[in-house]
Amino acid sequence: MIHYALVCENAHKFEAWFRNAEAYDEQHQRGIVTCPICTSRDVQKALMAPSVSRANSEKVSLSIGHPQHVQLREAMRALRTKVTSEADYVGDKFAEEARKIHFKDVEARGIYGEATQDEVAALVEDGVDFMPLPNIPEEHN
Ligand SMILES: [Zn+2]
Repeated sequence: MIHYALVCENAHKFEAWFRNAEAYDEQHQRGIVTCPICTSRDVQKALMAPSVSRANSEKVSLSIGHPQHVQLREAMRALRTKVTSEADYVGDKFAEEARKIHFKDVEARGIYGEATQDEVAALVEDGVDFMPLPNIPEEHN
């Protein structure tokens, strides 16, 4: 058995056991290695750095059992699609770009991307009015 620390496209860190390195490669190629948090198949091996083990203890917000679970998930998915289809993707430059927009250094426009916990905290401190995007599992209903 071989133990891998993995990370998905949404920066969720998780760990998984495989029979051997070939088994991981094979399952990864077939797209059956999925993130347990958002079910993304865009998964890769994470580096075993100290920041990774700290990230493993970071919490994510989850919900189960609401009577309108499926409808709400669809609504959140639609919301996410609306935001991401009508805004520019700026990747990990989100905090930098959001601050420019907030302080009117650039023309106002819709952007989305990723930020670290520290960057999020700094944006809140600066009074930047942003919102989280839901990470919606694509496969489950
Ligand atoms: Zn994920």
